[in-house]
Amino acid sequence: MKLILLGAPGSGKGTQAAYITEKYNLPHVSTGDLFRENIKNETPLGLKVKEVMDTGNLCPDDLTVELVKDRLSKADCEKGYLLDGFPRNLYQAGELDEFNAPDKVINLVVDLGKIEHRITGRRSCPKCGASFHVDFIGNVSNCPDCGEALTIRKDDNPETVKERLSVYKAQTEPLIDYYGKQGKILNVNGDQPIDKVFEDIVKVLGQ
Ligand SMILES: [Zn+2]
Repeated sequence: MKLILLGAPGSGKGTQAAYITEKYNLPHVSTGDLFRENIKNETPLGLKVKEVMDTGNLCPDDLTVELVKDRLSKADCEKGYLLDGFPRNLYQAGELDEFNAPDKVINLVVDLGKIEHRITGRRSCPKCGASFHVDFIGNVSNCPDCGEALTIRKDDNPETVKERLSVYKAQTEPLIDYYGKQGKILNVNGDQPIDKVFEDIVKVLGQ
């Protein structure tokens, strides 16, 4: 079974990816991991990626496609794959269709406003490492556990979160359309408890 998993940052995509790959015994192919592994192992592609990233640029489509193509040609992907973080745009999706088209695309449907609220309400304690949500602790400025001043992680900054979610939306909508026309989109309500989301994924996959 060849699957793509689409889900916004903060949608619980990572957890579902782990469940899916375990249940269906599929390799989890994430572009984030691919970049890291290839750079670490200094593969020819990895060296190219590193060169681009060292200049502060994003990895170009062609190079990303090459990395994924290379990974999907490995023996463990013969029975299928779960792609995570790829494709990101219509060009990448078109390329993937050329060399190893997916059977199904799981789309975790979540309310982006809720995700934004969940992420931007997080407060963390630099001293004891605890993290809280303002919904539960209220608007306090010190750690309820140890009294240290609470901080907002850089990634949880409202502007950053808004930007990340809007980039996700802009990138993903055309993909949902693209795979929808191919009859491959499986929508799953991601605004549910983790186990229920997974139950629904298994149900829509029908096996
Ligand atoms: Zn603390």
